[in-house]
Amino acid sequence: MQIGSMNHPGRDLIEEVREIAAMGFEFIDLTLEPPLAGVQHLDIPAVKAALETAGLGIVGHTAYYLPLCSPFESLRRAAVTELRLCLEAFAALGAKWMNVHPDRQAPLHDRSYVIKRNLQTLGELLPAALDLGLGLMIENLPAGFNSAAQLAELLDPLPQLGLHLDIGHANLLTDHNTTDEILKAYGGRLCHVHLHDNKGGNSDLHLPLGAGTLDTPHHIRSLQNCYYNGTITLEVFSADRRYLTHSRDVLRQLWDETMKKVGLEKS
Ligand SMILES: [Zn+2]
Repeated sequence: MQIGSMNHPGRDLIEEVREIAAMGFEFIDLTLEPPLAGVQHLDIPAVKAALETAGLGIVGHTAYYLPLCSPFESLRRAAVTELRLCLEAFAALGAKWMNVHPDRQAPLHDRSYVIKRNLQTLGELLPAALDLGLGLMIENLPAGFNSAAQLAELLDPLPQLGLHLDIGHANLLTDHNTTDEILKAYGGRLCHVHLHDNKGGNSDLHLPLGAGTLDTPHHIRSLQNCYYNGTITLEVFSADRRYLTHSRDVLRQLWDETMKKVGLEKS
């Protein structure tokens, strides 16, 4: 299992690469977002060189607010264009996966329309991703794409689409954390994980591990029970990055302890 951190898109990307490596993370969850990390202004050779010098791996992340299901066709097509540029950049940078957030913004349109438009966009992006040697994965979001049944509406029609599980999101706007039901249904398609704490409700607080109500030991056990051993990004957002490195140490310790316990139970 590898632990990573996301760059802050309001800070210089090369400096973020250096800082994330200096903190001891194993990969960067590179979000290509304005103002300072937009794909249009990305210096790919410089970022690639910085990643290589730092010895950092990379997972691709994109802006959560692109209009994938916009009823305005020109806007939806613009989202496809932007995401294609991101795919090309991530392929050049050596990433293997790029995430996409499903879109819910289509006022006065029903759920079936939202699903149809998201599927249209994802269906246009998937062949481009595969041609570039990248996988495309969808991240669960509260209010619309946060249960196994809701994610099924996108994952079932597109068997090549991967699952990117955000365990913090799975705790929001729900009476129970939906991680277990999502893993039960789609654990075999899990490609990447985001982990951060919150207190339930509708506030996506991105707290350090242990500062909210998430049962992190339980969720780590669930990941290991479906044989997940891939990338986990700590999406702990604080100006003081000691909260981030503390969370990294907590995660590594819990992961290793749980591994021993699960291993003993299975042997
Ligand atoms: Zn996330």
